[in-house]
Amino acid sequence: MSSKDLKPDTVATHAGRMSSEHFGVVNTPVYRASTILYPTLEKLEARDTRYRYGRIGTPSSESFENAISELEGAARTMVCTSGLNAAVLAILSVCSAGDHILVTDNCYGPTRIFCRQTAKRFGITADFFDPLIGRDIAAHIKPNTKAVFCESPGSQTFEVQDIPAIAEVAHAHGAAVLMDNTWATPLFFPALQRGVDFSIQAATKYIGGHADVMIGYVSVNEQYREKLEHTHDELGLYASGDDCYLALRGLRTMPVRLARHHETGLTLARWLQARPEVERVLHPALESDPGHALWKRDFKGASGLFGIELKPVNDKQLAAFMNALKLYGMGYSWGGYESLIVPAHFTRSARPFGEMGPVLRIHAGLEDAGDLIADLEQAFAQMQAAA
Ligand SMILES: *Cc1c(COP(=O)(O)O)cnc(C)c1O
Repeated sequence: MSSKDLKPDTVATHAGRMSSEHFGVVNTPVYRASTILYPTLEKLEARDTRYRYGRIGTPSSESFENAISELEGAARTMVCTSGLNAAVLAILSVCSAGDHILVTDNCYGPTRIFCRQTAKRFGITADFFDPLIGRDIAAHIKPNTKAVFCESPGSQTFEVQDIPAIAEVAHAHGAAVLMDNTWATPLFFPALQRGVDFSIQAATKYIGGHADVMIGYVSVNEQYREKLEHTHDELGLYASGDDCYLALRGLRTMPVRLARHHETGLTLARWLQARPEVERVLHPALESDPGHALWKRDFKGASGLFGIELKPVNDKQLAAFMNALKLYGMGYSWGGYESLIVPAHFTRSARPFGEMGPVLRIHAGLEDAGDLIADLEQAFAQMQAAA
């Protein structure tokens, strides 16, 4: 039975296992390795062994990469130490000095900074496009445009992009499509099947799932396999056996966790939509959301991350609300089992909304949805009391 016949939940459970090579142990153990010994001089000189050097790969990284490749339907996956690292790796795999890259205006802030600073220093120029551009991306493509970098929905503003349309136009001009797919993961948005060439994931978030590992990966189709492999190797990227182990362990339960994040996130979003303190909820699975039709067409689910714009309040009221919350931690990152809340950070060239009230980003964790709602309710009462 090939993994093509299996549903993604089954693939997430079975792919990448190496039990028969590890005494039947279900999970591939943590390999901490730099040196790998070769049995003979001939094999050493021919580098003729399955593993050659810790940085190049161990059973721990191979198990994780193979599991992800099956889930992504990819020709190859390369793991690295963070999601940002993965985004940079994808860009450097296709762009060289003199090339141009189009980047969605709602991308993850540090990706944007890389494009504006270090990439620029190496002769790669970036222009930022409206995430809702769709087919009109054609007007921005230059003769030296080598890549279009997407992120859908954006993790601060939650616009859904028409990835198949953007991919069709980009490919017609010979440009590669790179996508940061951290919000949906390959379970809820099969990026490579939708026209993406480089599927980028901050596995730090939902794949790790427990707020205790930093790791990223890039998956590619056959066309870009060699470019990715060479760039990864020459940059010296890798991830430790411990981190690969944690990420693979997280992957095994991701389907059930994501289903719950989806359900709780949507429950909170609907409840918040009906609150008088809330101006607007940014969540593509809500029927009223501008991105809903595209989300419904292309996605298989929603994660637990969404935004709200409050009606205007002063700083004291906002602090009273945030500080009163007991079940929502205040901190960056997301995708773990725990609920979080932070003020949204706009790194865009044009502020799309939030002119009036503050915009907050919520991560719905795996707590009971009723408890999460009760916590918001008591915090809104504190906000009103601070008026
Ligand atoms: C967190 C995040 C990243 C970066 O991942 P790290 O592992 O923290 O480097 C990239 N993209 C998005 C959308 C993220 O939320």
